[in-house]
This record gives sequence, C-alpha cells and structure tokens, in this order.
Amino acid sequence: MERKACIICHGELDSTHYEGYAICTECFDLMEYLMSEYLLMTITRREAGASVEMYSK
Ligand SMILES: [Zn+2]
Repeated sequence: MERKACIICHGELDSTHYEGYAICTECFDLMEYLMSEYLLMTITRREAGASVEMYSK
C-alpha cells in the first residue's frame, strides 16, 4: 500500500479530511484557523467600509 504524504507539509498523512486532497490533521487545523481569520477580516472590513460610507454622507 502506498503511503501518502500531506500536500502542504509533506509529512505523514494520518487521516483524510478532504476527499481528493491529502491534508494532515495539523494542516487541516491550520487551514480552519486561517479560514476563520479570513472570514473575520472580511466581516470587519465590510463593517469598516459601511461606517466610512455613513460618515461621508
Ligand atoms: Zn500537513
């Protein structure tokens, strides 16, 4: 059986979190963290943009 390696860190793949993508638990957690950070950043930016629009009127 072929041993798969994580596509991000090239470490040993302990489990498959995404079908078709070899991503280990560590990288999966990191990705989830980055995604939530990105989401929060997007939301915060949207709020900031709305308040700027409010003040310019
Ligand atoms: Zn990894």
